[in-house]
Amino acid sequence: MRDADVAIVGDGIAGLTCALACARRGLQVVLVGARSTAAASHASAGLLAPSIAPRPADDPAQRFLVAARDGYPAWLDVLAEESGVEVTLRLGLLEADSGRFHERDGAVDVPALLEALEVAISRRRITRLATGARAVEREGDALVVETPARRITARRLVVAGGAWAGALNGLRPALPVRPVAGVTALVRGEPDLPHVLYGAGGYLVPRGDALLVGATARDVGFDARITDGDRTSLGAIARKLHGIDAGLLEGHALGFRPMTPDGLPLLGVDAHDPRIVYATGYSRNGILVAPLAAACVAALVGGGEPPAPIAPFAVDRFASSEAGR
Ligand SMILES: Cc1cc2nc3c(=O)[nH]c(=O)nc-3n(C[C@H](O)[C@H](O)[C@H](O)COP(=O)(O)OP(=O)(O)OC[C@H]3O[C@@H](n4cnc5c(N)ncnc54)[C@H](O)[C@@H]3O)c2cc1C
Repeated sequence: MRDADVAIVGDGIAGLTCALACARRGLQVVLVGARSTAAASHASAGLLAPSIAPRPADDPAQRFLVAARDGYPAWLDVLAEESGVEVTLRLGLLEADSGRFHERDGAVDVPALLEALEVAISRRRITRLATGARAVEREGDALVVETPARRITARRLVVAGGAWAGALNGLRPALPVRPVAGVTALVRGEPDLPHVLYGAGGYLVPRGDALLVGATARDVGFDARITDGDRTSLGAIARKLHGIDAGLLEGHALGFRPMTPDGLPLLGVDAHDPRIVYATGYSRNGILVAPLAAACVAALVGGGEPPAPIAPFAVDRFASSEAGR
């Protein structure tokens, strides 16, 4: 007998949203997550900003990003009903350098969002396992996820492990996701900003009674140290954007962005085993894409049509360049 219709490996925004979306479709879900302190989701600024460095408006990937942003308010309303947790979404983003204002971009309060997802999940029949999954194996028509505590059998597997997704044994050999470390920090007691301020190589995001300052980027593997360079960079961004004294920055947090070569998600079924669905590689836009991506994943797992085209995110789109490496 199987433990679940679908096993989901990864407990950041990708795994949580996929678990909830699958449960909403009536699927029985086991969610396996190692709760990494360097998960990208916990350090994230929560910008919903497809207008920054946009691709052409008719580019299918850009259309997905815009649809993800525009669907957020309604999705948060449903989440609030399910969880009882209100999540603030601040609309409006000002590009400090050009003066361009994007009224539909903005930022979501990520800690509140993660809390709302946790509560909503706890109210569903979702089995949570706080452990690391080591490998996936095939047993007949079932998939078996190996953890130190137990083996989980499921009809489908969703790979949502963020920057660690490629470490799950038994998957395609070279999942094109690498960790890019990023650090954010908070400033308290500064005047509130009415909107996101973007420029000077970073941004300021109003979050509760604080401002979040972001973000650094280091492409050196899984090095989770917060360096003097990170602190100096964030201090400079805060000073240039809003005249904030660098000494006021506190609560520095580091996360590993799950980066793909083109900065777009890996979303869709495995080319060799359609029972495996990828929801990873969300790169710099994971908070933005997660709800719409999860709806697509739930449709794939449940045997339906994704609500948005996901062809630009095909998992094997780098196949020929991988072969040449
Ligand atoms: C500093 C910073 C700022 C950012 N700002 C923004 C922003 O403004 N807007 C935006 O949209 N995005 C932003 N991002 C990107 C966004 O945060 C990420 O794309 C997103 O959080 C990735 O979510 P995830 O669930 O895939 O990965 P993660 O949040 O990293 O979670 C992965 C989880 O899966 C677990 N896991 C992995 N493998 C296994 C396994 N085998 N077994 C069990 N558990 C496993 C890990 O332990 C971890 O807890 C930012 C990221 C950073 C670092």
